[in-house]
Amino acid sequence: MNKKILYVDMDGVLVDFQSAINQLSEETKHAYENRLDEVPGIFSLMKPTKNGIEAITELYKYYEIYILSTPPWNNPSAWTDKLQWVQKYLPKIGHKRLILSHHKHLNKGDYLIDDRRANGVSKFEGKHIFYGKGEFKNWMTVYKFLIKNWGFKKIEAKKEEDLIYKITHNKDRKALNELYNFYGHIIEMVVLQYSDELSNKEHKIIQSKAKKGFINAIMKYDTECKFQLMTFAIWIIRQEILKYTSKRDGFKLLPISRIKQIR
Ligand SMILES: [Mg+2]
Repeated sequence: MNKKILYVDMDGVLVDFQSAINQLSEETKHAYENRLDEVPGIFSLMKPTKNGIEAITELYKYYEIYILSTPPWNNPSAWTDKLQWVQKYLPKIGHKRLILSHHKHLNKGDYLIDDRRANGVSKFEGKHIFYGKGEFKNWMTVYKFLIKNWGFKKIEAKKEEDLIYKITHNKDRKALNELYNFYGHIIEMVVLQYSDELSNKEHKIIQSKAKKGFINAIMKYDTECKFQLMTFAIWIIRQEILKYTSKRDGFKLLPISRIKQIR
């Protein structure tokens, strides 16, 4: 399956520029007033933005990702610092996927997440996700948009049936992963209804409960029934997540029949 190409800007998107400025002395700030991006080594001081690394790590399952950044022309250390930043914070995803350019529109692709229109962004052939503006005010909103718009290829009914057979009869993990790849983004959309914070470890726990629910659904699914697999699976996934959140929050889940009795 060909993945769509996604470019991600660094400054102000993956990288918190302000976090480096906060570490500069008053003298340096004064000396480089209005050109703080030229302070030698400033890019090595920058911290990641909230949810940025986590979102990229998740999106990597669905998109072909490249980091696309413009280093200041008059600050040679920024070119090295940007490479080292990617090596430090995105060692796997960013490996040999850093593009430094003042002409971002020359890169072919589907999406570009950027907080500015400069350096060719306004001429980019795909969709510019204008980070920090309108509906894309932070990483969570960008993440939800990209999960929702992943645009997966629909699985053929016969193929789905074969995979379900392999999973239920032979406990075939490869078949499970293949089926999961088709529906992973739908499962993640259910997860996002219960967890709105990617950097929180709760998100990982809820993801694991959702995956457990998905596997349970496959095991119980009757390919002869009228429901589609995911209609059935979403219901089981929700049950699995609710079982966890109710225990975590000290609630008890009751069957509907019992609720009617109480009323
Ligand atoms: Mg930027």
